[in-house]
Amino acid sequence: MDKHVIIIGSGLGGLTCAYILSRNGYRVTVLEQNAQFGGCLQNFTRRGAKFETGMHYIGSMGEGEVLHTLFRYLSLLPDVRVSPLDRSAYDIISIAGERFPFANGNEQFVETLARRFPAERRHLEEYVRAIDEIATGSPLHSLREQGDMTFLALSLTRQSVSEFIDSTITDGRLRQVLAGNLPLYAGVRGRSPLYIHAVVNHFYNAGAYRVIGGSDAISRSLVASIRRHGGEARTCSRVVRIACDSAGATGVTLATGETLPCDYIVSNAHPARTLEWLDTPLIRRSYRERVAGLRNSISNFTLYIQFKEGEEPYLNSNLYHYDVPDVWGAGDYDPGAWPGSFLYMHLCTSAGQQHADTAIVMAYMRFEEVSRWRGTRVGQRGDEYEAFKRERSERLLDALERQMPGTRARIARHYASTPLTYLDYTGTEEGSMYGILRDCTEPSQGVVSQRTRVPNLFQVGQNINSHGILGVIVGAIITSGEFLGVNEVIRQIKKNE
Ligand SMILES: Cc1cc2nc3c(=O)[nH]c(=O)nc-3n(C[C@H](O)[C@H](O)[C@H](O)COP(=O)(O)OP(=O)(O)OC[C@H]3O[C@@H](n4cnc5c(N)ncnc54)[C@H](O)[C@@H]3O)c2cc1C
Repeated sequence: MDKHVIIIGSGLGGLTCAYILSRNGYRVTVLEQNAQFGGCLQNFTRRGAKFETGMHYIGSMGEGEVLHTLFRYLSLLPDVRVSPLDRSAYDIISIAGERFPFANGNEQFVETLARRFPAERRHLEEYVRAIDEIATGSPLHSLREQGDMTFLALSLTRQSVSEFIDSTITDGRLRQVLAGNLPLYAGVRGRSPLYIHAVVNHFYNAGAYRVIGGSDAISRSLVASIRRHGGEARTCSRVVRIACDSAGATGVTLATGETLPCDYIVSNAHPARTLEWLDTPLIRRSYRERVAGLRNSISNFTLYIQFKEGEEPYLNSNLYHYDVPDVWGAGDYDPGAWPGSFLYMHLCTSAGQQHADTAIVMAYMRFEEVSRWRGTRVGQRGDEYEAFKRERSERLLDALERQMPGTRARIARHYASTPLTYLDYTGTEEGSMYGILRDCTEPSQGVVSQRTRVPNLFQVGQNINSHGILGVIVGAIITSGEFLGVNEVIRQIKKNE
């Protein structure tokens, strides 16, 4: 066959698509602008401590579960080792001085929360039943072949998580607890669709895991496989133009001036970036306006902590903490009262680990807080920016210390990233965590097709289908399906089980 496919960007979506196509006889070339592959899978090391930047925990990795099956197909299993989070409390939701654990497995999940909210047991059972039904109702997320591509009843795509929780649960505190891990999809009251909450919670409730040694093991392994399949993967290769003739795309130009011809292009970048590289009448003005008008999910400020050796007991749970009265209001914080909420996680460096070497604390941050430094480069943004980062780091450390007393004294050093860092390292609009915001009140706002008006130009990544490890891999199956047929890809995955 030997058709040449250029994949722009080596995020999870780009690499997964490159893996599938190269395994099926296409000649692929992955072009990554950064010095490291992976996009959100990138890790960095400072003074011997390694940090993950955008993939901290994954789910459904038990034998036969969905991510395990996908990892097997993607030849990731020997290279990517995982460590289970505490099954009795993989997530802990901390609200107004109380902590509520999420336990793995539907029965344990209900049992644990019903102990705290006995009058809500029946409602909790209804809640988990509905989550299961909705999540397994999506054929692709359950790796079933497609009859048609409609994966959910329209009513479900139109229902918001908050509406569903409020109508299923009576107790106000329990409503907040069940929505407490909403940073996993940057939830917005009345707007975030129920099916995203369902798919995400179903995925982690089956089993939640950290990647031992860092999630860059995923991108390293995929790149090695792509090369084994005869593909090419290049870093420091920033695409600045997609060349087109009247029939379609003909190739790309890199920032260095190098041009590369090809038969097909798959862009893993944010759709707004992809359009910047295209100057062709095949793309209509109305499409450009629609993409320019799409709203993106919120960004975040992350503190990367290195602990003094052997001093910090390993926390095998993720802590979602809220000082604000309503978890849904966390993104609408007043900068003077920031952070208002945060997510705290230890990173896993070895199986059975006793002490943590590193941790991250993430807090929502809107891009407007750093927009005045837009256009500056990493490491050269100036003293004011550094002072801003220091001040916010101190505030976040104070908030952490109030919840985990004594932690501060065990910290050796810390570093910080802002929405600008994400913008520079992934090219996603306004450093948005999960790309385009899905909004059940305006379903078309969050829908970006894998196809474009340029017949041989496709898109992949978190803006297609949905974000996160499962959402992006499923999106890559949809995009690869344009070449191979979605059902053929599903058959290959099932055959590999
Ligand atoms: C802070 C944070 C925490 C997260 N935590 C989790 C988690 O715990 N679990 C989970 O499942 N998901 C998590 N996610 C979500 C998940 O990481 C993302 O949904 C997913 O990795 C996005 O993959 P992607 O393929 O869309 O591409 P990205 O990771 O956005 O990669 C796009 C790639 O395209 C490249 N690119 C852009 N422009 C160009 C160009 N001009 N030329 C060449 N290359 C270009 C970029 O450099 C980048 O490498 C998190 C995300 C963030 C931001």
